[in-house]
Amino acid sequence: MQSTQCCIVGGGPAGMMAGLLMARAGIETVVLEKHGDFLRDFRGDTVHPSTLEILDEIGLKDKFDALPQHRVSRLEALFADGPHTVGDFSGLSPFPYLALVPQWDLLDLLADEARRHHCFSLHMNTEATALLRDGAQGPVCGVVAKTPQGELRITADVVIGCDGRRSTLRESAGLQPRNLGAPMDVLWFRLTRQPADPEGTYGVPGRGSFLVLINRNQYWQAAAVIPKGTAAQWQAQPISRFKALVARRAPFLADQVQTIASWDDIKLLEVRVDRLDCWHCPGLLLIGDAAHAMSPIGGVGINLAIQDAVAVANILGPVLKQGNTPGNDDLAAVQARRMLPTRIIQRVQTLAQRQLIAPALTRQDDGQPVKIPALLRWVERSRLLTSIPARVFGLGFRREHVHLPARAP
Ligand SMILES: Cc1cc2nc3c(=O)[nH]c(=O)nc-3n(C[C@H](O)[C@H](O)[C@H](O)COP(=O)(O)OP(=O)(O)OC[C@H]3O[C@@H](n4cnc5c(N)ncnc54)[C@H](O)[C@@H]3O)c2cc1C
Repeated sequence: MQSTQCCIVGGGPAGMMAGLLMARAGIETVVLEKHGDFLRDFRGDTVHPSTLEILDEIGLKDKFDALPQHRVSRLEALFADGPHTVGDFSGLSPFPYLALVPQWDLLDLLADEARRHHCFSLHMNTEATALLRDGAQGPVCGVVAKTPQGELRITADVVIGCDGRRSTLRESAGLQPRNLGAPMDVLWFRLTRQPADPEGTYGVPGRGSFLVLINRNQYWQAAAVIPKGTAAQWQAQPISRFKALVARRAPFLADQVQTIASWDDIKLLEVRVDRLDCWHCPGLLLIGDAAHAMSPIGGVGINLAIQDAVAVANILGPVLKQGNTPGNDDLAAVQARRMLPTRIIQRVQTLAQRQLIAPALTRQDDGQPVKIPALLRWVERSRLLTSIPARVFGLGFRREHVHLPARAP
């Protein structure tokens, strides 16, 4: 049996940022991560200005800037007549871009920084399997975890569940998220970039499906957005049909697309948008994807998870620092702080899903490139209007700032 002040389950963006902020304030913190490393491909890689601000506030921006990355200041859609700007980050201050950084590099950076603090420990290959309770129906007081060496029991003043969209802790606590619906799934794949390829990061509109091409310098991280539940039908077809579709939507990829050998090169992301009505029960708080899975629209998942983590540190940190156990009111205060920004972004996402994505996906593909709608041509002329999506997704609402002071390591 081990004991700590704060036990965080899940070493994703929410868990590692919460762990770092707690440890940097001198709070005894244990993070449990079920995998042996952070090396998982096709995870969220978009680091928005709101997260860049947080990294700057905790003195990590220079180290972050040294990570391999591609900076994007304009998001474009490739219509029949070429690229058109749909989101312009260049007016945002102080960071007028979004950074595309492999998620494992970001997590390694946070973990390395957290390890500098003696009150922090990160247990890799350690999977939380159940909650420990004080009495049969009593408050949560820790977790049971599976490790290569056997079972580990950790008691804690508070347990923070950051274990993602399929959260074990959420299930153990009997909390059920409300499904907000999504009309699409995403097929992710990777294609080499050639010197003559365009420079931007693009959406390629289409009928029946469409593409997103994220410029990662050496390669394109590509996503085919398909109607929900149709992945099996796609995968039942020869891979050559999928390759032909990609080449038709983005002709400059016609050669590279031949490097896709089989459906094994393509990973399915089942899009899910959901939210817990109540993020906590006595002794346990859920944040990040465990509390609210986001639609991929706007690439906000990492950034909301990190904003949640900052709110956790700001609200629960001072209580723990005084040697107290956070009560239900403290846990509710974190939810109250983060619920509104989460609801607003999910509302924008579900609106975009209903108004733009679902109609495009249900249309019959006639093989023709899509012409730019007149409304979008008009929007593109206004810097103010193209900056709105960048502000909504890049900065979000009710931005968090780190208030929990650091203790010298
Ligand atoms: C394919 C894909 C592409 C995405 N693209 C983007 C994008 O471009 N931009 C963006 O912002 N977001 C994107 N997202 C979403 C983004 O990755 C998530 O919103 C974000 O990572 C949420 O962070 P989190 O810390 O809450 O959860 P997660 O990142 O899911 O982290 C949860 C962690 O908990 C660990 N874990 C789970 N169960 C246990 C357990 N029982 N015990 C111990 N550890 C456990 C997991 O191994 C994982 O490391 C994408 C997601 C996927 C799946």
